[in-house]
Order: sequence, then C-alpha cells, then structure tokens
Amino acid sequence: MSADDKNRQEIIRLTLSDSPMPDIQIDGMPEFAPGWVWLAGAGPGDPGLLTLHAVNALKQADKVVYDALVSEDILSLVRPDAELFYAGKRGGKPSWNQQDVTNKLIELAKTGHRVLRLKGGDPFVFGRGGEEAQALVAADIPFRMIPGISAGVGGLGYAGIPATHRDVNHAVTFVTGHLAGKGQAELLDWASIAKASPVIVIYMAMSRLAVIAELLLQAGRSSDEPVAIVTHATTARQRIAMGRLAEAAKLAETHTLEPPSIIVIGEVVNLAETLHWFGDKPL
Ligand code: SAH
Repeated sequence: MSADDKNRQEIIRLTLSDSPMPDIQIDGMPEFAPGWVWLAGAGPGDPGLLTLHAVNALKQADKVVYDALVSEDILSLVRPDAELFYAGKRGGKPSWNQQDVTNKLIELAKTGHRVLRLKGGDPFVFGRGGEEAQALVAADIPFRMIPGISAGVGGLGYAGIPATHRDVNHAVTFVTGHLAGKGQAELLDWASIAKASPVIVIYMAMSRLAVIAELLLQAGRSSDEPVAIVTHATTARQRIAMGRLAEAAKLAETHTLEPPSIIVIGEVVNLAETLHWFGDKPL
C-alpha cells in the first residue's frame, strides 16, 4: 500500500442522533476506509467516557475485535451488521493468544474490512496496543490509534481520588502488579518506586497485593499509609474500599473485592472522603 493510500482517509460528519442526547453533529471526523485497522480505547467502562473518535469508529467498523473489559453497553453501539470477535479470556476454555489476535486483525484487514480493535482503558497503557500496532506495521496494514481514558486516571476520578494534588504529590507512578509474583519481584525496582513516587497506582495487582505491600513496607513506606481499592470503576458495580498499607491484602478479602480493580497508595486517597461523588460511599 502506498503512502498516498495510507493517507486516503476522508473527513466525515459524526451524528449522534440515536442517543437520548440532543442531536450533535461534528464535522471533520475521519472516514474508516476498508483495509484499515483502528486500535481504540473504550475507557474504563462507563460508555460516557468513550471519545468521539471511538464512537465514530464503532459507527463505521464492520469487524470488531474486543477484549473482556469492554462493556456490553459499549458494544451495543456497533453497527447492527458488524461482526464481533471476542479476544479475551474465557473462564477455563481456550482463549486467543496475542499471535491469534494479531493474525485475526491482519486477516480481516487484508480481506478489505474496517477492523476496530477495541480495548479497555487506553490501548497503550498495559494493553499490548503497542505490540499490535507493531504487528500491523510489519504486515503493512494502515492503522489509526485512538487513545482512551485509562482506568488509573478515569477510575480514580470516579472514586474522588485525584491522581495528583498540589499539596500532596508532584509525581505519580503507574505500575503493573503482574510482575510482583514469586521470582518476579526483582523485575521491577519496587524500592525505587517507593522512594520516588508519593502516589502509586497499580494495575492488575489483586492477586499480588500482599507481596506488593510487603515490598513497599520494606522500602520504607509507612504501614499507616492510605490505600484504596477501586473495583469496577465508573460502572454501576463500582465499589471503593479504603484502608492502610499494612492491611491492603486483608482489605480486598474483607470486602470480597475482585478484578478488575485499581489500587492507589498515597495520601491522595484521603481526598475520597470529601471528593467521593459516584456510587456507594467508600467502605
Ligand atoms: N489498558 C487498560 C488496562 C488494561 S490492564 C487501561 O488503560 O485502563 C487490566 C487492568 O486494568 C485491571 O486488572 C485493572 O487493574 C485495571 N482496570 C481496567 N478497567 C478497570 C475498571 N473499570 N475498574 C478498576 N480497574 C480497572
């Protein structure tokens, strides 16, 4: 495909008239050309947090390859004749691996479809979006990337926890808890993170919370430091539990909190007591 072809996307008008909102028309949205893959973030769950580019993509795509964290409400926005492919994990049953996903994207694009790859949050934040984009480039498939609101920012917002607050922190670290298992803790320098970052936002950490809390305590963080676990953030199932670093793992157990959950460690957590505005009160 030539560079010209790659730039051939035309500009269209996005009309949001089939929603309960007043008619909104936005000029200048890109047309989804056949043979393209659009790699889009769906945000943390609330459909209201989709970007207009993501809605524009949902309205035009004819094939949608989506992950487990993309909600039904969001999928209901696809064209009625669009074909959906589930690429997430299926309790117990074989699920697609990363290679299966990229193969499917490439195959669908090469056969002339408008392929929407829809991921929870932002595709480039702990979402393997970069790997998929690399595979598309290698296969000479033109693509567009549509950022989404990441759970570590938007999910915190719905819990009334600012990721930064002027009197509290001038830095924040987003980290995956995935690498805190047995023999893996050394892959991440938790001691440096503990020293450098007053606020730590941890994705994919529920099963490793005890190990992570221990590593942070060893690195000198206070056992009294506030921790919040925000489960199913931005959805009707959102729950927030607040506690202390020393009892972080117990907190999840006591309130039977499960994934998807985002964990926040740092003094900003206390702000939820006054800034909490969505769903049930913090536990
Ligand atoms: N790309 C996504 C992250 C994917 S990793 C993003 O930018 O948000 C999956 C992890 O994201 C989950 O284990 C959880 O830690 C977090 N997560 C995603 N959606 C969430 C939600 N609605 N509430 C709480 N955590 C969420």
